[in-house]
Parts: sequence; C-alpha cells; structure tokens
Amino acid sequence: MTKAPQTKRAARKPTPSASKPTPRGRTARAASNTKSTPPPKPTGLTNGERLKYAQSLVRNIPDFPKKGILFKDITPLLADPKGFAIVIDSLTEHFIGDQIDAIVGIESRGFVFGGALAARLNTSFVPVRKPGKLPAAVDRVAYSLEYGKAELEMHKDSLREGAKVLIIDDLLATGGTAAAAAELVRKQGAYVTAFAFVVELTFLDGADKLVPVPVLSLMRFGAGE
Ligand code: AMP
Repeated sequence: MTKAPQTKRAARKPTPSASKPTPRGRTARAASNTKSTPPPKPTGLTNGERLKYAQSLVRNIPDFPKKGILFKDITPLLADPKGFAIVIDSLTEHFIGDQIDAIVGIESRGFVFGGALAARLNTSFVPVRKPGKLPAAVDRVAYSLEYGKAELEMHKDSLREGAKVLIIDDLLATGGTAAAAAELVRKQGAYVTAFAFVVELTFLDGADKLVPVPVLSLMRFGAGE
C-alpha cells in the first residue's frame, strides 16, 4: 500500500553529513549541540527501513473531515517514541549545517515537528496560526486548501529582514497552506530557503506551488494509498 520513502527531489541538496564541509559560526554551534544530544536507541534498521517503520505508523481515516477525504492521521506516529525519533532524526540530519535563522511551523501539527526540530538545530521557532489565536499585532493571508478556505496569521515582529527560514508542516496536500505561510514570511522581508513535510500526497502536486524553493518530504503517498 505504501511506496518506498523518498527524501528528495531533483534540485535538492546532496545528502547531509559526509559530503559537507565542516560547518562554521552559527551552524557549528548547532552541530556541536547535536553531538551532545544522546543518540537514539539503535534499531538495527537501515535508514530506508527506519522511515518505512515510521511510515507504517501513519493511519488512514476515510471521509474525515469531509466525505471523500482520506485523512492521514499522524497521532499513532507521535505516540510511538521510536517512530517520532526517526522522523526528528531524519529532519535533523537533512538540515544540520544549513544556515536556518528560524523554523516557521504551521498550526497545529507543524508545531510538533517544528518545535522539536528547532530545539535540535539550535534555532528559533515561530508559529503561524489560524486567525484570532496570536495575541500581538499580526500579518494575515487568505488561501484555499484541499477541503475549504482559510486564513493564516503570524506576529508582525517574528522575523528579521533577510532571515533564512525553513517552513515545516506535517503534510503537503495542495500546497496552499505552505504557500500562504511563505507569503507571510516574505511579507517580513525574510527568505524561505526550504520547506519540510513529514507526509506528501504526491497526486495533489502541492510541491509545484512551492517552486523554486527545495522541498523535503519524508514519506510520499499516491492516490488511495
Ligand atoms: P494543503 O494546503 O492542501 O497543502 O493542506 C495542508 C494542510 O492541511 C496541512 O496543515 C495538513 O495538516 C492538512 N491536510 C490537508 N489534507 C490532509 C489530509 N488528507 N490528511 C491530513 N491532513 C491534511
């Protein structure tokens, strides 16, 4: 039912670690911080097998929240310490050494992965939220998603001009949500240098809306998978 996990598209950067030069400055701090984090328990699995294991923890819920939508429920993955660690480790390995001034996480499941990743990469976390949730002055954008219309907000003073930003969410469907988050980032004069998703629904071609920014998706599902 599920395809072998893929981690990159054609234009993406090379696999991290071995091929990378020794990081300096801000990224060096991130790298040494990660070294001090205890490694996950060994699972005896290859990287591909580890991601396959994590992928097996994503549950399909038919007709939620509307008839005809196959909802990808990541709560079993979050509930499994090994599965969650595999996802955070994979994201960390991909981005370690890159200059990332802030990780922007999209409400609400993007907070879970984005918060954990920001702590691992020793960088800021900035929430993008649904309207009316953020207490201070906000920027707002309207957009369409797979099942309806929506708006997103971000605090006006979240990002400094020229900051390099990674946007993260649990799932890429049509790409409208991630594109809207990117609009908010750019409104503040910051740059979106990458998007990351745990799950991508490839048949909706959401990545096309995010071109030319590199997109990382850890697990890719076709129609009905
Ligand atoms: P989109 O803007 O169409 O890319 O939709 C992405 C956003 O909607 C993400 O925040 C997802 O959490 C949520 N979403 C859209 N479709 C699904 C789905 N089939 N299963 C789970 N979440 C979804």
